[in-house]
Amino acid sequence: MIKARKIAKERYANELGRQAIYLRLVVPANASSTSPWVPTEDVEIEAFAGTFFSSSQSLTLRPENTAGVVRAYIEHKLWDRGLNKLYCIGPMFRRERPQKGRYRQFYQIDAEVIGPASAGSDSPARDAEILELLATLLDRLGIKDWTLQLNSIGCANDRAAYNEALRKALEPVKDKMCVDCQRRAVTNPLRVFDCKVPEDQPIIEKLPRISQFLDEPCRQHFDQVQAILKSVGVEFQLNDRLVRGLDYYTRTAFEFTHGALGAQNAILGGGRYDGLSEALGGPAAPGIGFAIGEDRLVMSLGESAEAVFRKPDVYIAPLGPGMNKEAARLARELRRHDIVVELGEESFRLKKSLEAASKLGSKYALIAGENELSTGVFALKNLATGEQKAVPRSDLAAIILANG
Ligand code: AMP
Repeated sequence: MIKARKIAKERYANELGRQAIYLRLVVPANASSTSPWVPTEDVEIEAFAGTFFSSSQSLTLRPENTAGVVRAYIEHKLWDRGLNKLYCIGPMFRRERPQKGRYRQFYQIDAEVIGPASAGSDSPARDAEILELLATLLDRLGIKDWTLQLNSIGCANDRAAYNEALRKALEPVKDKMCVDCQRRAVTNPLRVFDCKVPEDQPIIEKLPRISQFLDEPCRQHFDQVQAILKSVGVEFQLNDRLVRGLDYYTRTAFEFTHGALGAQNAILGGGRYDGLSEALGGPAAPGIGFAIGEDRLVMSLGESAEAVFRKPDVYIAPLGPGMNKEAARLARELRRHDIVVELGEESFRLKKSLEAASKLGSKYALIAGENELSTGVFALKNLATGEQKAVPRSDLAAIILANG
């Protein structure tokens, strides 16, 4: 997780000039009355809302960042800065039925690009830039076999016509579908595409697709996103079942999926939300963003996660009463040289300390007993080769570092 965050931050901050934005975890529930994540049955995201912390005010734990970023854009008049490239890393809370890869509290790395259209915020170049950034990020993290699923869900007018067509198409068949789909067919027909019930799939396959309802500007926008991706060599799969069920999404919608994750296979998802600022009472401000699920990112790192954690360079084994204090002093000396140190415990026998050191994957074990302290020469054991050397205290750091 730490490496993932570090690389993500480097990419945003250094290469794309993004700036961090810090949003509150707890927000007044009435903020959600105009918010796209007001809890209802058929929106994708359901927040935890209630009267928390003995406050008389009803509060909500933030379930996502996009609406918060757009509110900040409006409140702080960020349009003066032209195109804003913002990122935010932190926990989210959703009322979910927990399962592998789906939690009530989870972590996201979010990024948003938002600004006036005059700053290029609605350009397909922004969409392609974000997708290229993500492809490079996953590659850099060593995540193999990801798939970029891409769709365009058009603008508000396209969506209205499409919803109507879906409702019509579902009307004669909905009774044969699962209870959830029967409800969605009426309340939010787009969500029918999220259905995983095998018996419903043949019906869903025959439903009209949003691609047939895109108006000319939306079609052109999507064509250009694809053309740029092809020219930079980012592979994608068109998936016209990928619809984001929140009303504010427009045009490009995407997910990066990974086979090893099981049913919850999206490492990250995102899309355009060109009308959101206006829906929240602000000026027109096209935007596009994504959220990486950090928990799933780490899961998809799988085997290569090994490389993410730096193993200890040295395990200090204090031998005998009173030696914890001395071992702590040695650890402090070595850590100043950016050496990763694990500390044992004076009550452990040497054998137990050496076993613990090997288990942690430490390169060296350093023995700190009465003798070593009085002579200033320490036994340093290379755990890979078994070779043990007597090393003066002042040379310890150099020798440990030399082994890299
Ligand atoms: P969303 O904000 O719904 O577009 O989700 C973006 C990403 O966050 C998803 O692709 C997942 O990787 C992750 N995510 C969403 N909900 C959860 C959850 N309940 N538990 C863990 N990860 C989640």
